[in-house]
Amino acid sequence: MARLTILGATGTIGRNTLDVVARHPDRYSLHALTANTDWQRMAELCREHRPAVAVMTDVDAARELATALDGETEVLAGPVALAAVAAAPDSDIVMAAIVGAAGLMPTLAAVRAGKRVLLANKEALVMSGALFMETARRYGAELVPIDSEHNAVFQCLPHPRAGGLAGAGVRRIVLTASGGPFRGWSPERLDAVTPEQAVAHPNWVMGPKISVDSATMMNKGLEVIEACWLFDALPAQVEVVVHPQSIVHSLVEYADGSVLAQLSNPDMRTPIAHALAWPERIDAGVARLDLAQLATLEFEAPDHGRFPCLQLAFDALAAGGAAPAILNAANESAVAAFLDGRLKFTTIARIIRTTLDALGGRTASDLDAVLAVDAEARTRAEREIRRSGH
Ligand code: NAD
Ligand code: MG
Repeated sequence: MARLTILGATGTIGRNTLDVVARHPDRYSLHALTANTDWQRMAELCREHRPAVAVMTDVDAARELATALDGETEVLAGPVALAAVAAAPDSDIVMAAIVGAAGLMPTLAAVRAGKRVLLANKEALVMSGALFMETARRYGAELVPIDSEHNAVFQCLPHPRAGGLAGAGVRRIVLTASGGPFRGWSPERLDAVTPEQAVAHPNWVMGPKISVDSATMMNKGLEVIEACWLFDALPAQVEVVVHPQSIVHSLVEYADGSVLAQLSNPDMRTPIAHALAWPERIDAGVARLDLAQLATLEFEAPDHGRFPCLQLAFDALAAGGAAPAILNAANESAVAAFLDGRLKFTTIARIIRTTLDALGGRTASDLDAVLAVDAEARTRAEREIRRSGH
């Protein structure tokens, strides 16, 4: 019986994880669920799944939850409790599914505690890359990627992989991208995109932030950085191809010309079930793939002109140091402003570029420096957002 904690349980990934776990009561028990403010949804999840502990980052929300639950689940509050529960000895597996930089400290706490960490929170890794991977090595944490692309690559690589990618004969990693809801749109149409349009992804149901990232293609940029760290790949070894059907989740090309791919219907329960049970396989409740019905799988090169965010991520990767953390922070600020109606869709990339240009040369070798640069980039981006006056 493996004991599980889900950070970000009320989100899309959190709820998909609960769906998979509920199919296997003989294999998994729930230690803790965490969320930010949505205590009503957390109360429903607690009644249905009966975790021992629930943590709300927001103190008022924790109070409401405790009243609503009447003592069945222990309710804790605040960021210190969140990090403590992520590291607690009562769980073996931690699903890191908080969105954005808010996930960094609890995810690192789980890594430091040497857990199997199912990594959905890509922003944490993008912000702290070298530090994050070094911490995982030092404390023996087992990172299994949840991002469908990285989970696909993980499945296509040999285990164990002595000698890194070169030792395994890998030539390159190809990440697929759906192209988002605005693939093929004219610059004029892109200029008038609304938040409602941007969060309506054609293939995946996701939280609002990653949906906007998918629409700008920053999501793929963050994933390129994520892939370099997770698989110890050089930026030149990672390529992006647009694949509108989201059936081929990513590919690995070997020296002999073989290309291995992982395919499945676009349903996050597949990578979640894979990561939970690895190296075993369990049912995920996902519909079987019907290739004859699908008939066509298309691939095309990304359009860097209309979707400049992808190149910005490659640029941040090349710049190194704190540039990926700055990219991530500026993106989080710009996306939040776009969702609030304070910024045009097409201005998101400009805010990120300006912030990178202003702060690009920074380095951040320890956690305090990462957090400081993150805060500085947000202040800078916010100033640009106000200046761009939408
Ligand atoms: P979501 O918005 O649906 O859920 C986010 C969760 O994080 C919620 O439980 C929320 O309570 C919690 N949270 C938000 N802010 C917080 C804060 N300040 N403190 C503590 N908790 C906080 O997001 P999602 O779509 O489930 O995505 C979660 C993560 O997984 C993201 O990093 C995303 O990039 C990644 N991811 C998601 C998908 C997907 O299909 N949804 C796919 C790949 C990767
Ligand atoms: Mg992905």
